[in-house]
Amino acid sequence: MKRFTTVNRGDSESQRICLHIKNELSHAGFTYDAANPELVVCVGGDGTLLKAFHEYLNLVDNVAFVGIHTGTLGFSTDYTQDQVDSFIHDVIHNTPTIDEKRILEVMCTNTHKTQHFMALNEVRVENIVKTQAMDIFINDQHFETFRGNGVCISGQYGSTAYNRSIGGAVIYPGLDLLQMTEISGIHHRHARSLGSPLVMNPEAKITLKHESFDHALLCYDHLHIHLDNIHTITIKNSDQTMKFARFKSIPHIQRLNALF
Ligand code: NAD
Repeated sequence: MKRFTTVNRGDSESQRICLHIKNELSHAGFTYDAANPELVVCVGGDGTLLKAFHEYLNLVDNVAFVGIHTGTLGFSTDYTQDQVDSFIHDVIHNTPTIDEKRILEVMCTNTHKTQHFMALNEVRVENIVKTQAMDIFINDQHFETFRGNGVCISGQYGSTAYNRSIGGAVIYPGLDLLQMTEISGIHHRHARSLGSPLVMNPEAKITLKHESFDHALLCYDHLHIHLDNIHTITIKNSDQTMKFARFKSIPHIQRLNALF
C-alpha cells in the first residue's frame, strides 16, 4: 500500500493532521496519489469515513480505508488524534489486515428509468410529511403492508448507526446479515406490521412498492434523494465490499462499549 491519500472533516485540526501525515509518509517513500490511492486515510470521524467511501466508490475494489478520530465519537476510527505518530509508524512498518464490510445496493424505479445508489451504513425510506404506506416484498414474496414513517435497511456495519437508534439489533462482526427496522410504524386494529426488526440472510432482496412515495426521501448514509414519482425501491447486498485496513487490532467489544 504505497499510494495513499487523505480525506478530512474540513476543520483546521483535521487539515493539519492530514498535512503532517502526507509529509511524513512521503518522506518514508510513500506516494501521495489522490486520483488512484490504495489507502485512504480519513481524519475526522465516522462521517468522514462515509464521505471518503462515497468519494472513492469507483475504486472501492482496490482501495482500503483507515480512520483517525478528531471529534467526539468515532466508532470505526482506529486511532485518536494523540496517536497520529503511532499511526504513521504502523503504516510504515506493519502490513494491515483487511476487514471487509458489505455494501448495500438500492434501485429506485419509475415508469421511465431506474437509478442505482450504494450505501455502507443503511438505506432508509422515510416520509415525515405524511403516513407512508408501502407493500414490502422479501425475495418477491409479499411480506406485509407497512404504514408509518418508513423503514431502515442495514447490514452488520450499519447496525450500530441509525438502526441502533430505532431499536434495531446490533450485529456482531462476522455475522453477515441484513436487517429491516421500522421507523415509527403505525400499529392498531386496522393497521399492523411486524413491529420488531427483521433479520435476514445476506442474499435477501427487499422490495418496497407503492403508487406514491411523494414527499418521502431515500436516505443512503449521509446522502439523500427525493422519491417523488418513484413507485418501486429494491434494496439488497451488492457484490462489492468496503475494505478497512486494520493496522492494529481493536476488540469489537471495546468499540461497542465506547458507543454508550
Ligand atoms: P454524522 O456523520 O454526524 O453521524 C451521526 C452519528 O452517527 C455520529 O455520532 C457518528 O459517530 C455515528 N455513526 C455513523 N456511522 C456509524 C456506525 N457505522 N456505527 C456507529 N456509529 C455511527 O451524521 P450524518 O452525516 O447526518 O449521517 C451519517 C450517518 O450517521 C448515517 O448513515 C446514520 O447512520 C448516522 N445517523 C444516525 C442518527 C441517529 O442515530 N439518530 C441520525 C443521523 C445520522
